Amino acid sequence: MERIFNFNAGPATLPLAVLEEAQSELLNFKGTGMSVMENSHRTKEYEAINSEAEALVKELLGVPENYRVLFLQGGASTQFAAVPMNLVSADSHADYILTGAWAEKAYKEASKFVKTNVIATTKEENYNRIPQADEIKVSQGPAYVHLCSNNTIFGTQWQSFPDLGDVSMVADMSSDIMSRRFDVSKFALIYAGAQKNLGPAGVTVVIIRKDLLEGIPSSIPTMLRYDIHAKNDSLFNTPPSFSVYMVNLVLRWLKNNGGLAAAEKRNAEKAALIYETIDLSKDFYKGHALKDSRSRMNITFRLPSEELEKTFAAEATKQGMIGLKGHRSVGGIRASVYNAMSLEGCMALTDFMKVFQSKNG
Ligand SMILES: *Cc1c(COP(=O)(O)O)cnc(C)c1O
Repeated sequence: MERIFNFNAGPATLPLAVLEEAQSELLNFKGTGMSVMENSHRTKEYEAINSEAEALVKELLGVPENYRVLFLQGGASTQFAAVPMNLVSADSHADYILTGAWAEKAYKEASKFVKTNVIATTKEENYNRIPQADEIKVSQGPAYVHLCSNNTIFGTQWQSFPDLGDVSMVADMSSDIMSRRFDVSKFALIYAGAQKNLGPAGVTVVIIRKDLLEGIPSSIPTMLRYDIHAKNDSLFNTPPSFSVYMVNLVLRWLKNNGGLAAAEKRNAEKAALIYETIDLSKDFYKGHALKDSRSRMNITFRLPSEELEKTFAAEATKQGMIGLKGHRSVGGIRASVYNAMSLEGCMALTDFMKVFQSKNG
């Protein structure tokens, strides 16, 4: 059977080589006579997966010594609550920058548990851009400033991260982690659900500075405590072992293909190809994001009518390109081109876009 080009926003396409490797050892993992899924998480085989995945996250991202890498459950959405619960004390508060639907959700969830401020938002412009540095007004002494590095639904991305001095930054990097290089030490905590750039759903990566593991209030539910998970090397309770195994294979694949520098280059090339097609279409295709805020992961655009957008998605599906329908809050088309989407897939899409325009423009 032919594989299709999967432009879904998440869960998303995975590298074929990784799927084939998982398939080849599905029934008998490393001579154990069973799959990884059936293996106890207290075996040396599983512990090797867990520690290799942790080491690869550190190596690929250049995570400094004073950070821990954790593999947790509950998706990025659970982190929306865990972050404020662990990091904000009763006499403190947290600042949020709103750049899209996920940032809003993080803010709303945190507001249930701690005092929060919105210190910048581009909601008025339907989140078509990232705020400029001078629009960000950090409050007096927040526990952290939270931002979302890539806005999956609106198709915008921080091109570089703001310099907020001594203030701790926390980032939701669910939809662009491992897609480019950045300085981890700018952040106190980073979290990312795996199902976009890292592997299948079921595991969330948390990168946390070690000093934040001290003094976590005892009232927090055990499963939400970073200190408990750190002390137990992410093996406090049964981990999502198959998901962590898949993440490990994806990380190996990234490393074998040149690491983050090479991934960044591939992603820039892929996104440029599609944006160029949008820009050269004389407004047949109209990008949602302003040019200086364009995401290299999720490319959002409109066509002259909703009717044509429907036809576009339907015809693309017929030609083996699925998942292109935009999120209802932006409408139009969204092409998600995470690490595992090939240049070939992006070329198939731009070829299709050009033909579609010539027939319907
Ligand atoms: C997909 C996504 C989430 C939600 O992740 P879950 O793992 O489904 O909770 C959060 N933030 C961003 C930026 C996302 O893209």
